[in-house]
Amino acid sequence: MTDTRDNGGAAFQPTLQCDTAGCDHVQNVADITEDMIGTPCPKCGASLLTKEDFEASRNIFAMAKILEAMGMMADPATADENSVRMSVHHHNGDTTIKISDPKADRGSS
Ligand SMILES: [Zn+2]
Repeated sequence: MTDTRDNGGAAFQPTLQCDTAGCDHVQNVADITEDMIGTPCPKCGASLLTKEDFEASRNIFAMAKILEAMGMMADPATADENSVRMSVHHHNGDTTIKISDPKADRGSS
């Protein structure tokens, strides 16, 4: 059996993101918890997490936890700096998954 736990994999990074048009505030969080519902955006004061978003996000985070447990994803706190980061944002029934590859940011020259 192959252990895929030694990085090079993807790390799941939960984020809180402002949905107000024109406001691009995003913050990384260790986890998304119920007590974050209603957290105000530091830029515009809008809620960063509504109850609806939280309920919908829970399923996605549960899935991510399973992938982490299976060793298919690394914990962002301990992941290698080269690990791909996956962030998930849910709003109004739409789920956005953003994959960022840190290696892509380092010029090849
Ligand atoms: Zn905002």
